[in-house]
Amino acid sequence: MTKLVDTYKRKIDYLRLSVTDRCNLRCVYCMPAEGIQLIPPKEILRYEEFVRIARIAVAHGISRIRVTGGEPLVRKGIVEFIGELAGLKGLEDLSLTTNGVLLKEYAGALKKAGLNRVNVSLDTLKKNKFKDITRGDRLEKVLDGLEEAQRVGLTPVKVNMVVIKGFNDDEILDFARISREKPFHIRFIEYMPFDVEEGWQREKCLSAKEIKGMVEAFEPLEPVMGKKDGAGPARRFSFKDAPGEVGFISPVTEHFCGSCNRLRLTSDGKLRTCLFSDSEVDIRKALRDGSSDEEVEKLLFKAVAEKPMGHHINENIFKKCSRTMSLIGG
Ligand code: SAM
Repeated sequence: MTKLVDTYKRKIDYLRLSVTDRCNLRCVYCMPAEGIQLIPPKEILRYEEFVRIARIAVAHGISRIRVTGGEPLVRKGIVEFIGELAGLKGLEDLSLTTNGVLLKEYAGALKKAGLNRVNVSLDTLKKNKFKDITRGDRLEKVLDGLEEAQRVGLTPVKVNMVVIKGFNDDEILDFARISREKPFHIRFIEYMPFDVEEGWQREKCLSAKEIKGMVEAFEPLEPVMGKKDGAGPARRFSFKDAPGEVGFISPVTEHFCGSCNRLRLTSDGKLRTCLFSDSEVDIRKALRDGSSDEEVEKLLFKAVAEKPMGHHINENIFKKCSRTMSLIGG
């Protein structure tokens, strides 16, 4: 079968499926306090529609799928859906991004259904700050969820921290130190520009280089070589003899567009080939009007053919995305 390769010869083998626009937290940099205008339920893809696209995509070279949202664990039937995806022949890696609030309850069942691993978003280890950032008092639940994910073998458990200057950068070392004690992979992510009320400003974005410098001032880091880590863009390191790792992801200051292998499907059925481009290919209509698999496949190839060479965050022409991360699928 023909593989998905874009105009710039990048092999597209990674698909993110956003299964819902709903979330049980309201992180200040992602959503306004009252939430966002939700997509009408009938416009949200049904699980069987996601599975159909995934099956077609896997037949054309997608080997890794990440399920995200919104918060994927708030959508009913998520475990059975994971089971369906896990059964796709040719899929090598199935992961899920979650805020961790419901993870303790779901981890065992997700593992049994065939999920390989989880990424848990966590930006602070302080109870009050967690409340301020997420507008929810659930830090304990997230920490329990992390432990449970490790216990049931959803490994490596990754912890993603979005670093915002003056907000949580005082906790960088506390997060890095977790990798000394636990086999977690801590990922520091640069704060990216989306059109939300909090208002992104360049000064609030601490570069991955600066973050790494802060960690190294605490203790030297050694590069992690050769171990497989999904298709992630993180630069990976560890402290000597530590069970875990730290990694740095720099979408803003040193973008990795040249090696971008991603395709995203929003919960309302739009294919997006670049996180920062509002250009989308609608696939829902074809899924619902009786189009054949070949016709759906054509749309997949069309989206890939239109994948832009890179984003323009650092150029004057850059416009913040009209959708927030919760609507795109982070
Ligand atoms: N609810 C799930 C979660 O919390 O992981 C999945 C969706 S959430 C939108 C995915 C990720 O996007 C989270 O790690 C969140 O921190 C990240 N995110 C949202 N807005 C961001 C921004 N402006 N810059 C960097 N990361 C952002």
